[in-house]
Amino acid sequence: MQTLKLALGFSLISGFISVASASDAYTEGFEHYAQEMKGYADGGIIPLSVDQYARDLKQTIKKAGYIGKQLPIPQAEKVADGIYTVVGSLIWHNPSNYGLNNNLSFMVFEDGVFVFNAGANPALAYSLHQQIKQVTDKPVKWVAVENSQGHAYLGASYWVDQGVKHLYSHSVANDDFHNGFEAIKNSWGTRVGHELTESARDVSDRFTTFDDSITVDVGGGESVQIMNYGPGHTPGSTIVYLPKRNIVFPGDLAYNKRMLALFSYTDTRKWVDTFEVFMNAMPQDVKVVPGHGAPTSLQQVKKDTYDYLKDMHAQVEKLIASGGTEQNLDQIDQTAYSDRPVYEQTYRNNAVHIYREFTGGDLGESNE
Ligand SMILES: [Zn+2]
Repeated sequence: MQTLKLALGFSLISGFISVASASDAYTEGFEHYAQEMKGYADGGIIPLSVDQYARDLKQTIKKAGYIGKQLPIPQAEKVADGIYTVVGSLIWHNPSNYGLNNNLSFMVFEDGVFVFNAGANPALAYSLHQQIKQVTDKPVKWVAVENSQGHAYLGASYWVDQGVKHLYSHSVANDDFHNGFEAIKNSWGTRVGHELTESARDVSDRFTTFDDSITVDVGGGESVQIMNYGPGHTPGSTIVYLPKRNIVFPGDLAYNKRMLALFSYTDTRKWVDTFEVFMNAMPQDVKVVPGHGAPTSLQQVKKDTYDYLKDMHAQVEKLIASGGTEQNLDQIDQTAYSDRPVYEQTYRNNAVHIYREFTGGDLGESNE
């Protein structure tokens, strides 16, 4: 039954996609035509109908952009009353996980639903929305994204198309996403399938940005704090904190179990500093819904994120102090972490990255 539904959904959507892929030239052509006709007939019946057709077409294309095929993503996990998270895959983004390799969370408040992370593409955002609708009929009123990465941002145009007016991101993350949009979209499309990312648009101009914090009144006497404690995994990042419920969503500042991935823009020394600020600001018993991995405790994300970085820093410093070079990085012992997901894909690069940070080496370029 599930398979049949998916297959039907897919064939229905592939019809739309063929329209959507020709969207720009087609819509623009009709808009131009309507414009031209106006010039000829001064508001008569023909230009009006062409105008209407151009608008209808735009609507259809817009719809195709967010109907997507509903993806069989995991059921959201209940973190607390009204608070849910879909725990993303702990491995790399690829066609089998649709780019769902971070956590997509939603929180039901008195005045509406708050979504944290727009998702890696509009189809994922749509699929998350279907889950939200199973839990509540309240509208999604707020969307915040953890950082500039594709799995935080590329689904944002879906939420804009749904009428969401309040979108939040750190100012640096919003600039980074805007400036990298084409490269980020292309990179995620290549990894998970261009048919999923195709309809994603750069809606960074719709975001309300902040530098330190914003407080959002979500009704019922409750507020959500949207904060930044400094750079780390990414130069700009967003933490969502629910003081009344003692729950925090630190984004990629905090990982649970999964091996850390370091990109060209990752500053691991700042990450450690930022993590300390975060630890000191939070109640010790706060519930943590991390950027990667299942909901857990502050102690667990400290161990899997902060302690790992501190250990790597100490080992790399020791190697450098003894005259070791990049040729000797196999002396860095990471076997204690070998059971962590994506260990094989990350541990060598993590040693190289940190070594180069400490020695001023070239960190390359990432379009994640
Ligand atoms: Zn991430």
